[in-house]
Amino acid sequence: TSTLFIVPTPIGNLEDITHRALRILSEVDLIAAEDTRHSQKLMQHYNISTRLISLHDHNESQRASQLISKLESGDNIALISDAGTPLISDPGYGLVSQCRDAGVNVVPLPAPCAAITALSGAGLATDKFQFEGFLPVKALARQQALEKLIKQTRTSVFYESPRRILDTVKLIAQVLGSERRLVLAKELTKTFETFYSDSAGACVTWLEEDANHQRGEFVLMVAGDKPDQSDVSAEALKLLSLLMKELP
Ligand code: SAM
Repeated sequence: TSTLFIVPTPIGNLEDITHRALRILSEVDLIAAEDTRHSQKLMQHYNISTRLISLHDHNESQRASQLISKLESGDNIALISDAGTPLISDPGYGLVSQCRDAGVNVVPLPAPCAAITALSGAGLATDKFQFEGFLPVKALARQQALEKLIKQTRTSVFYESPRRILDTVKLIAQVLGSERRLVLAKELTKTFETFYSDSAGACVTWLEEDANHQRGEFVLMVAGDKPDQSDVSAEALKLLSLLMKELP
């Protein structure tokens, strides 16, 4: 059966691609890429000559039907994005959901994802976490998205651009308090990979003290709220009273 393969590509270091990914990229009939010119460089580096076709946010719904017809007529297709795992703050959701609806075989490959890479090296709790992608651009929506983290006990993971990182960290310090712990993971897998871990207030200072600190790609992680003892016992009392009602 023909298959749509979801193939993650490096997030900075060209060595971060699996043997299986390289084999599939050379064997498929077609590669759907977010930006074909960008991906051409990766293909050249690995001597892969498979034809590339674009699939981005603006043509996805129309492209998806074309690709599904090709899959139904027997072609194998790989989907890649500019970096990391397709569909994770990247195009592909429309295509994969339409493939699933149409009964087309979908096979995802595991490999780089900036969020998971950052989280695994941050030193924050990882037993439960939430991935939030990019914060909304509009001020009110940003503020509201951050307000939801006030009582959130899980680690929250965001993607952020160098243009907005300082404003975002300032807003976090304002909404969640300057003591909330953050980890900024920047330029992962690249030469200047940096993890900076401190209170939101100290992160603002660090970003402001050197323009270079704001450059590059960021994963921003917010430590979960640590409920204080009185919160815990209030919660416990509520639970206890619920349980009491259930007793015969
Ligand atoms: N699909 C990708 C993935 O699996 O990680 C994410 C694509 S999203 C459009 C791009 C964002 O991911 C960047 O703005 C940045 O927040 C994050 N990112 C990608 N590569 C990174 C890297 N090498 N270091 C830190 N963050 C990175």
